[in-house]
Amino acid sequence: MRALVTGGAGFIGSFLCERLLADGHEVICVDNFFTGRKKNLEHLLDHRDFELIRHDVTEPLLLEVDRIFNMACPASPVHYQYNPVKTVKTSVLGTIHMLGLAKRVRARVLQASTSEVYGDPTEHPQRETYWGHVNPIGPRACYDEGKRVAETLCFDYHRQNGVDIRVVRIFNTYGPRMLADDGRVVSNFIVQALEGKDITIYGDGSQSRSFCYVDDLVDGLVKMMQQIATVGPVNLGNPDEFTIRELAEQVIALTGSRSRLVTRPLPQDDPTRRQPDISRAKEHLGWEPQVKLGDGLVKTIAYFEELLRSGELHRATMKNG
Ligand code: NAD
Ligand code: UDP
Repeated sequence: MRALVTGGAGFIGSFLCERLLADGHEVICVDNFFTGRKKNLEHLLDHRDFELIRHDVTEPLLLEVDRIFNMACPASPVHYQYNPVKTVKTSVLGTIHMLGLAKRVRARVLQASTSEVYGDPTEHPQRETYWGHVNPIGPRACYDEGKRVAETLCFDYHRQNGVDIRVVRIFNTYGPRMLADDGRVVSNFIVQALEGKDITIYGDGSQSRSFCYVDDLVDGLVKMMQQIATVGPVNLGNPDEFTIRELAEQVIALTGSRSRLVTRPLPQDDPTRRQPDISRAKEHLGWEPQVKLGDGLVKTIAYFEELLRSGELHRATMKNG
């Protein structure tokens, strides 16, 4: 199989490229390097089955491929709110271009959707049948509504043109290669703990998230693409739920840091609770996460410790003050 991975230079995308190559596929990675880095793929550049193309998915693209993983889109609130109009274009035009390509070359296309389609959910845990509770005009809307339209496009191309789609709703995923300065909670807390800075809890820290280690997530993506029982949507995430304060305490314990916990204002529309119901993934993909939060955090901390040793962490955090 020849697979196209859009956003393949990013956090999840780079692990996906690795996995697909290890499974014996040819991989074409397309990325505009907004939040992705060549460094994430440096070890793959000489692989005979790997190609890297600088391209923005808001522009059309013609390639001969069998599988498309549409991962391109900034995922952290800081980055997707940096240029919200561009975020909408990436989700909407990017997905139209990938579905158009899939239609033309009869490829199967997997759309990386998100738990953000549920917004600040009024149902808990979130099942795929829940339609969500999204503010359409708030600061998160460029991402949430962009991804919701992307799902709509997938299902309309499927019904109207018979395009072979797969839709997954990814819940908070973490691991090595997250950007040190992208503002997501796991990378923020680890970097703050390692640098001995205050750990910034937004609100009172009672809001919850369920954190999935990247290896588990990538396995779910591959299984979803392979199977034919369902086109989705299927939730992919770890159902173990933690408050943000509990996460901070785990990070402090695992790093042995002396950082203090401090509170900062809660961002607008920040979801209060989030936990995936993964019954569908279990039933159709035979998938469920294997990595416990503590074990995944240890691996992620080791990655950031290495950045700290090499001076890269300091450079990344200085850039943003
Ligand atoms: P990331 O920011 O590390 O990766 C996104 C990649 O897309 C980057 O390499 C970036 O340069 C690229 N990109 C952005 N806009 C582009 C464009 N217009 N054209 C080409 N490339 C572009 O984020 P990630 O965490 O790896 O997320 C990957 C995908 O998974 C995203 O679609 C995201 O919405 C989805 N997702 C991630 C999470 C999570 O917790 N990490 C949760 C839900 C959904
Ligand atoms: N958060 C926090 N401190 C930080 C960064 C994030 O308390 O330094 C909180 C944030 O308000 C949210 C949760 O952690 O409640 C997860 O935030 P993240 O940006 O990682 O993901 P998302 O909100 O998209 O789930």
